[in-house]
Amino acid sequence: MPSTATFHFAGNLNDFLPRQQRGQPISHAFDWRASIKDMIESLGVPHPEIETLQVNGVPVNFEYTVQDGDVIHAYPILAAPSVDLLLRPALAMPPRFILDQHLGRLAAYLRMLGLDTRYRNDYHDEELAQVSHDEGRVLLTRDVGLLKRSLVIYGYFVRATHREQQVLEIADRYQLRPHIRPFRHCLNCNGLLDSVAKATVLDQLPADTARYYDEFYRCDRCGQLYWKGPHYQRMQGLLSRLLQE
Ligand SMILES: [Zn+2]
Repeated sequence: MPSTATFHFAGNLNDFLPRQQRGQPISHAFDWRASIKDMIESLGVPHPEIETLQVNGVPVNFEYTVQDGDVIHAYPILAAPSVDLLLRPALAMPPRFILDQHLGRLAAYLRMLGLDTRYRNDYHDEELAQVSHDEGRVLLTRDVGLLKRSLVIYGYFVRATHREQQVLEIADRYQLRPHIRPFRHCLNCNGLLDSVAKATVLDQLPADTARYYDEFYRCDRCGQLYWKGPHYQRMQGLLSRLLQE
């Protein structure tokens, strides 16, 4: 006789389940000893998305071995019954991010908002998991398999596919609004921007820019110059939507 455990997934953890299993208890038969983490991932839900686990009403961690008859509740952050029960230490604020190679546009937006965001278009999955682990960065991806890597502590599957929707989704999930500060990070390389006097960069500016702008910033890593030109004005629309919601 195989053993059976019943799983209840709360809130947006259901996004990872087949449609017919969403929002209802899942009875899962097993005949091997497995950690709760492995069993949950075999059902489709990557462990970084889970913030609290309870078995028969008692909080457990990911190493718990599932027993016959267990009733398991898994909660995402916003549905967690209590922050005292979280499975991992609270994130440093503002959170820092690392993004997979398919999220370059989102990376640029997060940098525009002033968030420390690592991104390269040639990171391998091992590197992404390792850097996320070593630096305590939130790994953002649309690859569920990547999130299931055991090295990943902080990670999140980006549901939205349109980039502005993605920014809003991440701003909600990580409560980023108080941390938004444009002109802090370089869009190209994530270096820090320093304010520079106009006179010192005058010879590097197009004539129109020199005429219309007085405030300039330079990346301390790659030297890129920034000012509040048309690019910034386009961003203002997104910023004001972010700050309103
Ligand atoms: Zn730079």
